[in-house]
Amino acid sequence: MNKKGKLIVVSGPSGAGKSSLIAKAMEIRSDLSFSVSVTTREARPGEKDGEDYFFVSKERFAQMVEENALLEHATYVGNDYGTPREYVEQKREEGFNVVLDIEVQGAGQVHEMMPEAVMIFVIPPSLEELERRLTLRGTETPEKIRSRLERAREEYRHADLYRYIIVNDDLSVAAEELCAIITASHCLYEDRKNYLNESQEKNES
Ligand code: 5GP
Repeated sequence: MNKKGKLIVVSGPSGAGKSSLIAKAMEIRSDLSFSVSVTTREARPGEKDGEDYFFVSKERFAQMVEENALLEHATYVGNDYGTPREYVEQKREEGFNVVLDIEVQGAGQVHEMMPEAVMIFVIPPSLEELERRLTLRGTETPEKIRSRLERAREEYRHADLYRYIIVNDDLSVAAEELCAIITASHCLYEDRKNYLNESQEKNES
């Protein structure tokens, strides 16, 4: 594992099952590294600081933005979220494919800065199913659920930013698809064209 890793951007409405999908893909592939985001949102029951998110104050978040410590950042349903820049760069240098679970605005920023990033949109089988999952999760008020559903509709309108769509109905199938996309991203012409020269040189000598 010596080549620089890819940046894998995974977006999709809250409740689409992105976290479980990424966790499952990480069980399958050992070359993935999840980028833990910084957020001003309160931790949900069971969430661990440094594992699910780095939970920070509004002041600390603003300071990180000021110091250019975030690769991208955005506000989502009243809270701020951002990707620590240093971790992403370091892990990619080590050869890991770094997976970001980020919403559409942040994904747009990444896409603009790094057009080669692998852009994946994860959706539930339907919006009705999404509402059911959000309600079942039981961590949000009905009002927050409505905001998140509204935001999901808004995100669908920007889905053409993405190269791939995964419909997360069966988690195992969806994880296989995510792994397959990552594999394919390493087979791109741009990444493999050196081999053409090398094999040509071998033939000529
Ligand atoms: P949740 O509050 O449900 O954990 O996350 C809400 C939304 O914020 C999700 O769509 C998630 O992908 C997104 N998100 C999480 N971390 C980041 C981040 O670092 N940057 C951006 N732009 N979005 C994030």
